[in-house]
Amino acid sequence: MVYHGLMNASRHRRAILIVCDGLGAEWVSETHTPTLARLLKGHRCAGDHRAVFPSVTRVSAASIATGCFPGRHGLEGNQMALVEAGRITVHNVGAPSFRETMRRVTGRTLRVPTMAERLARSGGQIAYSNVSPGAAYFLDPDHFGTVLHRAGSFGPGGAPLTGDAHLDVSHDLDGDIEMTRRFCAEVVPCDGFRLAILWLANPDLTLHHEPLGSPAHIHALAVTDRLVAQVIETVEAHQDRFDTLLAVGSDHGHETIGRSVHIGNWLAGNGLEPELKDGRIGIASQGTSALIYAVGAARAAVEGLLPKMRREPWAGSILTGEALAATGLTADSLVAAVDTARHDETNDHGVPGTRWLVEDGEGTPEIGCGHHGGLGPAETRPFLTFIHPEFGQGEAGRPTSLVDIAPTILRFLGEAVDDMDGAPLSA
Ligand SMILES: [Zn+2]
Repeated sequence: MVYHGLMNASRHRRAILIVCDGLGAEWVSETHTPTLARLLKGHRCAGDHRAVFPSVTRVSAASIATGCFPGRHGLEGNQMALVEAGRITVHNVGAPSFRETMRRVTGRTLRVPTMAERLARSGGQIAYSNVSPGAAYFLDPDHFGTVLHRAGSFGPGGAPLTGDAHLDVSHDLDGDIEMTRRFCAEVVPCDGFRLAILWLANPDLTLHHEPLGSPAHIHALAVTDRLVAQVIETVEAHQDRFDTLLAVGSDHGHETIGRSVHIGNWLAGNGLEPELKDGRIGIASQGTSALIYAVGAARAAVEGLLPKMRREPWAGSILTGEALAATGLTADSLVAAVDTARHDETNDHGVPGTRWLVEDGEGTPEIGCGHHGGLGPAETRPFLTFIHPEFGQGEAGRPTSLVDIAPTILRFLGEAVDDMDGAPLSA
């Protein structure tokens, strides 16, 4: 099955973006994901496509929504520090209430406009998401468009959608299946939007509790692939009325967790317990990486320990200054980012590489299962393809990143593409 849009200016021009959370490019194959493999082969694909840093879902959502890296949009991690009255508190960005906390402390949510804001006056955005509330709501944190999520669904202006209008699905594969069914019934045939986003929780959700390459992972890939096929078939069935750009991709991949470390405990054991206790130092785990924040004199104290930290077996690389800024991540109180070490070990299913998980603020480590967040080879390579006659086929011909998705979609829709870190893939 290959999608062939018809060139016809009289049809409603729109875009549909499907994100398969946590589906690394190396898992796209005829065997595991035949639909995705055919899409990449038959349409324009990003052959050298990269995640943002940290390679976590909430940051990815904000970067996809804005076309900017986290240093510009301001959402620094799945957990991030906010400084109030000189004191650091590390917050879980996934909580539904985090946007309100961010507004209270910083005066706003994201620092740059989302696609939802840019499209608000020309047809709008609608998003169906089955990942964490934070990752869903940061697609459109200030409610310019519509977002449906199991923790709460909202129309423009934040009007609650209740009853049948709410997305009451389970946070698992069955929830992805039901969400896709509703997306195909309620969104694809309708002309009430310019951009629709379908963000599936899998295979990411499965991988956080199962090994890479395990039967559960392979099953999640197969189900996810069929859901993408279902959306494409529905789009094809309505192409007499719509001129649809389909973008299909993922946000990051996964790597295997082999060991774990608590960086706060390490800093406390190296003399910085008082600074950690009174909020002058904060550690925000991003899974296989961590952000180390400090204020005042504690900053120099942390910097003084970095040479010793670099010799620890869990410290793959520690980024500071220009090297950190080059990843696209900057923040006033951010001192360093730790990308954890990778070991040359292979799991029971033949998948190479194990990583250290940073425990700070995370749940109990699930050793042997998947995770992400750092700069490892598998977690930083999502996939991406644009499907429309104007885009042709073949590789994009340049390195691309999540920040290139918004400008590509907006240019297709005839909207201004300005003040973004990303650039449109040429059609
Ligand atoms: Zn994700």
